[in-house]
Amino acid sequence: MSVSIKSEKELARMREAGKILSEVHDCLADIIVPSITTKELDRRAFEIIHAHGCTPSFLNYNGFPASICASVNEEVIHGIPDKKRVLKEGDIISIDAGVIYEGYHSDAARTHAVGQISPEAARLIEVTKQSFFEGIKYARAGCHLFEISAAIEDYVVANGYSCVRDYVGHGVGARLHEEPEVPNFHQKRRGMKLVPGMTLAIEPMVNMGRPEVYVLENDWTVVTEDGTLSAHYENTILITEKEPEILSLN
Ligand code: MG
Repeated sequence: MSVSIKSEKELARMREAGKILSEVHDCLADIIVPSITTKELDRRAFEIIHAHGCTPSFLNYNGFPASICASVNEEVIHGIPDKKRVLKEGDIISIDAGVIYEGYHSDAARTHAVGQISPEAARLIEVTKQSFFEGIKYARAGCHLFEISAAIEDYVVANGYSCVRDYVGHGVGARLHEEPEVPNFHQKRRGMKLVPGMTLAIEPMVNMGRPEVYVLENDWTVVTEDGTLSAHYENTILITEKEPEILSLN
């Protein structure tokens, strides 16, 4: 397995890609209200990314037809923006996006409430976000990769939810998906030792019910098998000797 260690020059580009992506997420958070369509969110993301002279990482990636993934309620990831998909009060929506700045990617996801949501849904969003922060307590030089995985799952399970197992986090850099894979659940081994300069996309996908998922007939959208809600939280991070640097969070 070869994991790339980024140079300062590469990191400068990734920081910029992350900063712009953070801005995209902040802008979308402000316009997510009942009656907006997921297509409109996609349009706005494209607009912001282009205004910075950048390219959306996801557009045409393996044929994906949009700049963001917009996954509503029981949709876990890879929801395709659609002008007929109108958000309504009480929905939750996960937005995943990526930005390419001078050849380098950032990758991040957030889950938002649409108007007023149930306390149960709000708790799922909060636990999912916090599981990322629990995981990255181990994202520093000298720790092992799968300590991150274990910490995420422990926190999620302690809160009564489950981690999706079919999709995982990953290295990120000159390519959107690089080695290593970063699972959000316990592994038999400790995994590789983390080294400064590694850049990872850590992305817990958390289901309110069981962990099983399947793919809809559009060949993209991943949904929970039991129909329960799912949330997603992701940032691109840089491993250092100390705390990780979160590149996609302004
Ligand atoms: Mg990712």
